[in-house]
Formats: sequence, C-alpha cells, structure tokens
Amino acid sequence: MSDLTRLTAFEIASAVASGEASAVEVAQAHLDRIAAVDDMVHAFLHVDSAGALAAAARVDAARAAGEALGPLAGVPLALKDVFTMSGVPTTCGSKILEGWRPPYDATVTRRLKEAGVVILGKTNMDEFAMGSSTENSAYGPTRNPWDLDRVPGGSGGGSSAAVASFMAPLGIGTDTGGSIRQPAAVTGTVGAKPTYGGVSRYGLIAFSSSLDQGGPCARTVLDAALLHEVIAGHDVMDSTSISAPVPPVVAAARAADVSGMRIGVVREFSGEGYQPGVETRFREAVAVLESLGASVSEVSCPHFTYALPAYYLIAPSECSSNLARFDGMRFGLRVGDDGTRDAEQVMSLTRDAGFGDEVKRRIILGTFALSSGYYDAYYGQAQKVRTLITRDFERAFESVDVLVSMTTPTTAFRIGERADDPMAMYLADLCTIPSNLSGGAAMSVPCGLSPDDGLPVGLQIMAPALADDRMYRVAAAYEAASGGPLTREVPAL
Ligand code: GLN
Repeated sequence: MSDLTRLTAFEIASAVASGEASAVEVAQAHLDRIAAVDDMVHAFLHVDSAGALAAAARVDAARAAGEALGPLAGVPLALKDVFTMSGVPTTCGSKILEGWRPPYDATVTRRLKEAGVVILGKTNMDEFAMGSSTENSAYGPTRNPWDLDRVPGGSGGGSSAAVASFMAPLGIGTDTGGSIRQPAAVTGTVGAKPTYGGVSRYGLIAFSSSLDQGGPCARTVLDAALLHEVIAGHDVMDSTSISAPVPPVVAAARAADVSGMRIGVVREFSGEGYQPGVETRFREAVAVLESLGASVSEVSCPHFTYALPAYYLIAPSECSSNLARFDGMRFGLRVGDDGTRDAEQVMSLTRDAGFGDEVKRRIILGTFALSSGYYDAYYGQAQKVRTLITRDFERAFESVDVLVSMTTPTTAFRIGERADDPMAMYLADLCTIPSNLSGGAAMSVPCGLSPDDGLPVGLQIMAPALADDRMYRVAAAYEAASGGPLTREVPAL
C-alpha cells in the first residue's frame, strides 16, 4: 500500500481487518516516521518500539486465528504521558517522576490495549498538564508541525503534534481547562473533551480532579469518535465515572447532519483580544453551518467572563492537594537523602529540585487560596462562580442544542513569546474553560487557516453533559462541508 501514515484510523483498521495491510507493517511505518521527523517536532518523551510491534503482532495473530477485531484494532496511537502504562516510563513532563515506571495500567491504557490499539509511546506535555504551550515540560518544548518556531498548544501539545505530523493517526489527551481542544485548534486537528465522568480518570495522574478529563485527538471527526467509544464508559475504579450508556458518538459522526439543529453563538467570546483572522474564519464556519440547515442565534452567557479567574483558583487549589503525594518517598526523584537530613528536609529539597516554576507557582497559589481565613474569599467564591457558569449553560441549552465559539482567541504563538507572562499564557484557554467548570462536553474541529498568518483555526462546539453525540454531529457536518481534514495542508517536514 502507499504511505500508511497518511491513512485515517478508520482506513487503517479497515485495511488491517481485510488483510490489505498487517498491523506490524502499519506500526513499523509509524515508527519509521517518528524516527524521521521527531527530532524536529519532539512530540514523544518515550517511544516504545518493542511494545508497539508486539501489540501489533498480537492483532495480526488474532486476525489469522479468525478472531473478531475491534473497530480500532491495529491502529497506532500516541499516549499523553499523564496516563500510567505498566512498566513504561511515565513522567507527566516532570523531573520529579523521572525514571518512574508505573506498576499498573490506567483504565484508558487498559481499554486501548484490549481494543488492539497499538500504543507507540508517551507524548510530551506541560509539567503535570499545567500550561498552554508544552514549554513547561521539563524535557524541552514540542514544536508545531505547521511552523516549527511555534508552540503546538498545551498541555497536550505532544499528542496533537504527533497526530498533525502523521507520526500517529490517533492520540490521547487530557483536558482540565482546554488541554485537548487548544492544541487541536492550533495544530489543525480534532480534539474532544468528553462529558466529565465520561472517561475514567483511574491512572490519570491528577492535576485538578474535579476538572480533569481524558479524551481523543485525531485528524478526522470520525476517528475521534471511534476512539471516544473505545475509551469511554463506566469504571468502578473511578468514583466520578458516570454510570450511563456512552453517548452514540460514532453514529453521530457518521450522520454528520445539522439540519434543524439550533446553534447558539456565545456573544461574550469575541472582540478585543481575539485575532481578527481567527474571528473571520469562525464567522465563516457559522455561516457554513447555517447553510447546512442549522438555525443560528446569538446567546449571552454573562458569567463566562469570570471563568478564567474562577479556574485559576479552583485548579491550583486542587493541584496543591493532589501534588502533595510527590514527597520524594514513594515515586521518582529523591534529593539529599544522605543520612544527614530528616524526612522533611529531603522532601523539601526533592520538591524544590523536581518541580518547575509554573507547578510551584500553582502549588503556592492553591495552598494560599485554601488556607484558613482565605478559603471562603477565594476557593469558596470561585465555586459560586462555577455554579453561575453552569447555570448560564443550562439557560442557553433551553433554547439551543449546542453552543459554538472560537476554540482559542489566537493561532499558535511563537516559542518563548508568552513563556515569561503567565497571564498571556492563561488567556489561551479563555473560551475552553467554561465547559470544564460545568462538566459539559466540548470539542474543537479545524475551520481553516487564518488569513492573517496562515495558521490553523479551531471551531469549538459545546454540548450539555451526556450529549457528546450532538457536538460530533455538528463537527462532522462542518468537516464534510469544509472539504475534509485540514491536515492535508500541513507542510512536509
Ligand atoms: N492551560 C490550562 C492550564 O494551564 C489548562 C491545562 C489543562 O487543560 N490541563 O491549566
């Protein structure tokens, strides 16, 4: 067959199932591609060639034995380094976990393996998923395949860059404030944050537990939906996992029909701070949806403008508690344990050496926001704002089926451009954070290249909790009308 790395996940699975290509051939083609271009992109922190080829061989053997194959059997995937994978280094982009090999699989990892998905390796990310550019990785930044001087977004920039540069047709990300959708937008790929609780968090190293959610990265909407159905569903190992049927996202992606749907454009997300070219492409996308038979109206969600400050109290508060487990005793790094120091000193030296600046900033901020005397004023107040944002969504969904906005206010920025300005970095998630706070589903689908800089723009579609299928329906309809996946235009590396 021609270049196997150019196929979609759906096409690869079909080729493997029919015997047109073997899973081993497919895995090898992707490993070769990684060897050829990842020096430039740096999407992977660890490539598990032997594990990938062995998993692929198992799929080929199962086929030869006449066993039924799952819908993604033999398809390679890039796994964000925030999910544990038994025996394979898992760092979360942090020095503090360097050398740690988890003794167990995350539920997401286990489901991928059981489905015959071929895990190629672990992808780069902002340390503990805190960031919007992948520059906060302790292992150096990932580069955007559209322009190697630019960031691929974050925190899951590694998975999105791997998918955009044809090193893998599928990736897994996690989205606490936008870390699947924002990288998808700026790399011209598809990324979905399922309803909170839709995908198990067991084995997902926690950043902010009430917000973290795993989800799919892909080049097409159908591929994202196929992966979504493989990883989603109730899990007794995660007490926040929803015990309800997985929304029929694959059927919705196949239906790709928006006629009669009511689409609301969020009024608050436009104007100052939004790149004109991004806004242009967004307005055009809305017009396309209207031409496909959707009814479009403007909807006000007045509290969305407070989402960012609320998030930057809630997420650091939860992270200050979650990251307390990295104490130099149980996992990874231990500094200064030479017999002259007590446990507290070793803990303090380890955390000082092991955590980067952004992680420290958030632990300090979160510890302060939770401290006695300030708890109500900061954390408590932020939780009230969270309720108001959820109510904005509820009110909006009384009159529309989905909400849409730009995924990010700008296209990919240059490496280093925002590195010393946390506020500028935080603004990248202005439009994505509300869905994390409400727990609803949201995704990003490419909507062309910005006329001002030629870089990818994302259309965000937000749906109510457990109505993930609605957003796939809209995304697939838009993708079909816009001429198919945008990654067909990625410059050759
Ligand atoms: N960029 C946001 C942050 O820094 C969101 C990160 C995420 O979704 N993991 O917290």
